[in-house]
Amino acid sequence: MDWIADYHTHTWFSHGHGTIEENVQEAIRKKLKAVAITDHSFAHPLIGLNIDKVRRMRRTIDALNRRFQRDIAVFLGVEANIVNTRGQIDVPMKMFPFFDLLAVGLHRMVFMSPVLDGLRMSMANNLQWISGARRRAAAAINTRTLSRAMERYSVDIITHPGYCFPVDLSDLAASAASTRTLLEINNSHGTPSASALGTVLESGARFVAGSDAHRPSHVGSFDNAQRIIREAGIPEEQVINTAGHGVWKFKSHERR
Ligand SMILES: [Zn+2]
Ligand SMILES: [Zn+2]
Repeated sequence: MDWIADYHTHTWFSHGHGTIEENVQEAIRKKLKAVAITDHSFAHPLIGLNIDKVRRMRRTIDALNRRFQRDIAVFLGVEANIVNTRGQIDVPMKMFPFFDLLAVGLHRMVFMSPVLDGLRMSMANNLQWISGARRRAAAAINTRTLSRAMERYSVDIITHPGYCFPVDLSDLAASAASTRTLLEINNSHGTPSASALGTVLESGARFVAGSDAHRPSHVGSFDNAQRIIREAGIPEEQVINTAGHGVWKFKSHERR
């Protein structure tokens, strides 16, 4: 498969191990046409973004886009956290204009608000290992929460669906299709699995492979994602960062 873009990479602005420019240079070296910087968002304790970091990132990316305009398009994204079961995320409204791309994912160790909601979600997910019924109950809460986020915001990508937090992939794919949200096939976490993906190919949802690189050398690495895509039998047209697609038009204009 020929890859043209990586829309999920981290830098030291959250807990990655490289700079924005290093990610961009690696993406150019791998002949990508676009790369997005999607660091962890505001509710992530210690490592998350803040207003000052976002301003600096925006300036850096604008300068890199001028410098490398013939080589690559660089996007400023964010991997936002969901902070309650209504699907609200941890990006302050006033910060939306800074971002070109909104990715949303469920993560552990995030401040939830209200706290009771957080307890409900973490309880459901901690009990998922007890039985199939508990796992389905956790998946129902997680799927509903992600779907509400997709309805509430112009979400571009749901990152690693199923990682740590089980989901009902067919319900999630239906929500993704109706809201034109991409479901990620994550190279680092191997989620969703090929067997799960194989059941939702008819949903109309589209997919994007993401490296989730936390160091520059991993930018544009899609070996695991490619294996999953092949195993699941997903046609390349349904994976939007493969050759045959242009640089993706994100929904950012709808948020401005
Ligand atoms: Zn993530
Ligand atoms: Zn990530």
